[in-house]
Amino acid sequence: MTNIVNHWIGGKSAEGASGTYGPVTNPATGAVTTEVAFASVDEVDAAVAAAKEAYLTWGQSSLAQRTSILFRFRALLDAHRDEIAELITAEHGKVHSDALGEVARGLEIVDLACGITVQLKGELSTQVASRVDVSSIRQPLGVVAGITPFNFPAMVPLWMFPIAVACGNTFVLKPSEKDPSAAVKLAELLSEAGLPDGVFNVVHGDKVAVDRLLEHPDVQAVSFVGSTPIARHIHTTATANGKRVQALGGAKNHMLVLPDADLDAAADAAVSAAYGSAGERCMAISAVVAVGAVGDELVEKIRERAEKIKIGPGTDPSSEMGPLITKAHRDKVATYVRGAAAEGCEVVLDGTGYTVDGHEDGHWIGISLLDRVPTTAKAYQDEIFGPVLCVLRAETYEEGVALINASPFGNGTAIFTRDGGAARRFQLEIEAGMVGVNVPIPVPVGYHSFGGWKDSLFGDHHIYGNDGTHFYTRGKVVTTRWPDPADTPAGVDLGFPRNH
Ligand code: NAD
Repeated sequence: MTNIVNHWIGGKSAEGASGTYGPVTNPATGAVTTEVAFASVDEVDAAVAAAKEAYLTWGQSSLAQRTSILFRFRALLDAHRDEIAELITAEHGKVHSDALGEVARGLEIVDLACGITVQLKGELSTQVASRVDVSSIRQPLGVVAGITPFNFPAMVPLWMFPIAVACGNTFVLKPSEKDPSAAVKLAELLSEAGLPDGVFNVVHGDKVAVDRLLEHPDVQAVSFVGSTPIARHIHTTATANGKRVQALGGAKNHMLVLPDADLDAAADAAVSAAYGSAGERCMAISAVVAVGAVGDELVEKIRERAEKIKIGPGTDPSSEMGPLITKAHRDKVATYVRGAAAEGCEVVLDGTGYTVDGHEDGHWIGISLLDRVPTTAKAYQDEIFGPVLCVLRAETYEEGVALINASPFGNGTAIFTRDGGAARRFQLEIEAGMVGVNVPIPVPVGYHSFGGWKDSLFGDHHIYGNDGTHFYTRGKVVTTRWPDPADTPAGVDLGFPRNH
């Protein structure tokens, strides 16, 4: 064991006091490289107390002060891209270029937070009644918490805290215990940028830490990103405790390919979006719906491309796809593929039993491609979160849309076509929060919001963009009268105030 990943409380590293630790594994070697401290209720309380104390001054700080710190943080994040990407690859397993992409997309949200001054501009109506003005302002909530998944250990926290702290809140992050180091690095960079102690805190751990955040009376709001069952638990528990909640869940993202689509472009997109990051993306394409007669040709084009994907350690620049996060997850993914034929699927590529020479203990699985998948198959119904692509067939556009809309998930979806009318119709008819037209992974830019529908999001707010600012602030409307000294006093009037 080399080192221990500690909490970050009140502006400094805090050793775990609970005596409970979890292993952090390098997925490419299968070796436990580090242990991470798991927080007890008392340690979560210490982090929330530090955030509450810091809020007394941070909540009153000027926009100029907040944004100048965020600009410095942005520069530091930019300068440390490589180092953060290396931490991600070492604990998550994704290839270095993909890890760099994740940092770049997180940086977009810091860009947005640097311009929070524009987002927080209030509204003013003058002379709504005689000598009466009305202004609307938005104010921070106080201490807010973020709970994040393993698959984007830097980007998903960056979806949350830059906006939260730019709005004047203080933050407690509970990152995934599987790859906790990137979050600590972000905390160190924030501190270096001049963020006052206690404004950003990190507690590691499991359900004990999460559930304490959900019930803590001083936590005003909870942002969660993770799987659907846990998102539902977070939403139910935190709202029952009176908190504002946005809980983003899992997904099964469909790509509808119409007969007029450019099939080479569609196959490139399907392969990139299905197998990138070994399918461990909430916006991965996991189901292609081929409409009309294109199915056979499309499957063949996907197969040709998928077979060429180079699988290996994320540190090897020639690797295009790395291992899965844990052995247990790898084995679970394999069961879907092994059971597919019995459920009526045609197994075109079977990636189970795959290994990488010299790294036999890594959490490897190869590429799997399943064709003619019935909607009753578990491989279709469940979010597999691995490099398994299901192809389904539909006779018509309408049948394809009905199939997608019957899914309980509604995160992202895409249509591939050359027909603008069909694409427009799809945008309006499809039940998902993010739609791509000839774009397979339509993750919105930072100044638009990210979020799904149905079982992919619990709560009213999407994450970042205008929704982020709204989520992390509450509105206040001020009605002001400054009478002229020459005015005759209005006198007592018990009627309901009217504007005239
Ligand atoms: P997860 O739900 O297992 O864990 C997410 C977080 O919740 C972690 O911090 C974890 O420690 C905590 N947690 C786990 N079990 C808990 C419990 N019983 N009680 C309280 N807290 C608990 O998710 P994961 O495996 O880390 O991440 C993969 C999942 O996240 C996939 O389902 C993926 O689709 C989803 N995801 C969704 C989005 C999105 O934007 N919708 C983005 C990324 C990932």
